[in-house]
Amino acid sequence: MPELPEVEVVRRGLAEHVTGKTITAVRVHHPRAVRRHEAGPADLTARLLDTTITGTGRRGKYLWLTLGDQSALVVHLGMSGQMLLGEVPNANHLRIAALLEDGTTLSFVDQRTFGGWMLADLVTVDGTDVPAPVAHIARDPLDPLFDRDGVITVLRRKHSEIKRQLLDQTVVSGIGNIYADESLWRAKINGARLASGVSKAKLAELLDAAAAVMTDALGQGGTSFDSLYVNVNGESGYFDRSLDAYGREGEPCRRCGAIMRRDKFMNRSSFYCPRCQPRPRV
Ligand SMILES: [Zn+2]
Repeated sequence: MPELPEVEVVRRGLAEHVTGKTITAVRVHHPRAVRRHEAGPADLTARLLDTTITGTGRRGKYLWLTLGDQSALVVHLGMSGQMLLGEVPNANHLRIAALLEDGTTLSFVDQRTFGGWMLADLVTVDGTDVPAPVAHIARDPLDPLFDRDGVITVLRRKHSEIKRQLLDQTVVSGIGNIYADESLWRAKINGARLASGVSKAKLAELLDAAAAVMTDALGQGGTSFDSLYVNVNGESGYFDRSLDAYGREGEPCRRCGAIMRRDKFMNRSSFYCPRCQPRPRV
């Protein structure tokens, strides 16, 4: 599942290649890819036709293209969605294609069809225009207007596990299971601790760690980026080799050498160092 860095790599690619271009034709190849657009495929294609892409936006894992008429094309990448420019390597998974004025095709390819496109109006939240379906999503740690102290105040009131709060997109967005574990490892906090029991200084360290780890991942995602192929590697990204916690069960902690552990958490797994990140006493 793509997390913030992978989505930001896609957004940057799109910003460079599609901004300012007008859509001259649209074809929906699979209705499931537009199921979130309640007015249906014909409405989506009619509204996109002759519309100019004025920019790109992202909040957390949500991605969109802004259009000339104060609306936005919201792109849900789901588990395996890709926004590709130019040749599509596997046409079997092509869901939507939009032809741009310069002859380039912008394609939405999605093997597992959890993703899709929808049109939405832009609304202003806290001084920033976002598509209506994204209005409830909190700012992410890489947002220049991210209010770290405000988020700390919210976290200090939560009597539930800190990792659960990190994953709650209405508290802080963009952090999924991988980057939650990485941030907690960097800040030496066990994810099972109650948010309300973690000091302000430690929460600040944690949010800074989240920003830092995602910035690091973004840097590496960018290096593999081909200008004509806007890629999301949904499963793992290119950051694999640099992970300190996620997936490292049974391996030595890179900081202290203790053997890393894995616990079940919210139907997923939490990877942590039992020495650097001791579990809270029950
Ligand atoms: Zn350790």
